[in-house]
Amino acid sequence: MERVLLALNAGSSSIKFALYSLDAPGDPVAMCRGGIEDIGDMPRMSVRFFDGRPMWQHSWTHGAGLSHEALLKPLLAWIETQFGRDMLAAAAHRVVHGGGTYSAPVLIDEQVRRTLEHWIPLAPLHQPHNLAAIDALAALCPDLPQVACFDTAFHGSLPERATRLPLPREYAAQGLRRYGFHGLSYEYIGRQLQASAPRLVNGRVVAAHLGNGASLCAMQGGRSVATTMGFTTLDGLMMGTRTGAIDPGVLLYLLRHGMDVDALENLLYFRSGLLGVSGISGDMRELERSSEASARQAIELFVYRVVCGVGEMAAGMGGIDGLVFAAGIGENSSLIRSAVCQQLAWLGVVIDEQANASHASCISAPASRLQVHIVRTDEEAMIARHACTVLSREHGPPPSAPQTWAANA
Ligand code: ADP
Repeated sequence: MERVLLALNAGSSSIKFALYSLDAPGDPVAMCRGGIEDIGDMPRMSVRFFDGRPMWQHSWTHGAGLSHEALLKPLLAWIETQFGRDMLAAAAHRVVHGGGTYSAPVLIDEQVRRTLEHWIPLAPLHQPHNLAAIDALAALCPDLPQVACFDTAFHGSLPERATRLPLPREYAAQGLRRYGFHGLSYEYIGRQLQASAPRLVNGRVVAAHLGNGASLCAMQGGRSVATTMGFTTLDGLMMGTRTGAIDPGVLLYLLRHGMDVDALENLLYFRSGLLGVSGISGDMRELERSSEASARQAIELFVYRVVCGVGEMAAGMGGIDGLVFAAGIGENSSLIRSAVCQQLAWLGVVIDEQANASHASCISAPASRLQVHIVRTDEEAMIARHACTVLSREHGPPPSAPQTWAANA
């Protein structure tokens, strides 16, 4: 019988999760990870051991319109069968937006839950799903302690000039400022670099989290000093279905010429980016497979925006010593990494194409002025670590950091 922690990352089309043992001597131990894919269509759940071996699968006979409660109930039942009755000790969630209120993870109570709702308009693609998972677990296990870990929190170290929007001062007082996102991923990347490249982490690093959502973070001494996402998750790089930064005049033009706000939001979040430019897909794998000219154009624009963004981040730090690729595209696409690195040759980047093709952890050639790394990011591990800190503060002793640190280092 082991007490377990459930770390959850609930998104719009999928829920990722991982389970950690809280009972092993020393640090909590990562036991398995899983996901529920295709929410809203025909959901299916799978759980794997951390080494990838399959552990459990579940599917639903009908999918459309299933609530988070209906989706999470079988998972809780399986946890009970696997680990014993009442052995689920806590759940911890990735919550995209903590606004100006939460700069650190927090135990969720009614007031925290209400406050998190304020930030839905700033992250309409994520926050409602994060909250739906919290509500579902509260309904299914009312006494289960739940912890919220914020994507914005890591960017609490941003200098004032990196957070201020060039608007009249009164807007800042209303919370209109740059926050930054993907913080759990960047925090994890910083810690991994601490172990694998300790000298680099004290230098000037640009980390590129390139998934369906994409952003860059300039880090010095493992702390965020600049980032491309801002007030919302729309800013910065071009993404799977989001525009990234776009001339605000375009938005005024569209509003003046008949588009309403809801349609504009839908356009910016769901119909643009790789999907909009290619007209084919927002999924990089599909675009790489396609022979259509529009797919090539979309990839070229994605790379161009990453390259320009790296230049901006480097300029803000007065230089750059290392570049890190992470997330679905950053970890798996040798084509994108190679294209980005080639266009950054002027900065002194020389890529080792063989290391790049085999997704090695260091992909820069010895002659490169910059070190270039791939880090397999793990937001759930970061969530588990934070949850343990919060729970030990609230409920006394155990756990500290998940043992996956050592395993992944
Ligand atoms: P999310 O932001 O939803 O967590 P991920 O980090 O899983 O997204 O990244 C998803 C993106 O990664 C998709 O565009 C997908 O096509 C891309 N991707 C995953 N594997 C590969 C691969 N082998 N080659 C190119 N792109 C990949």
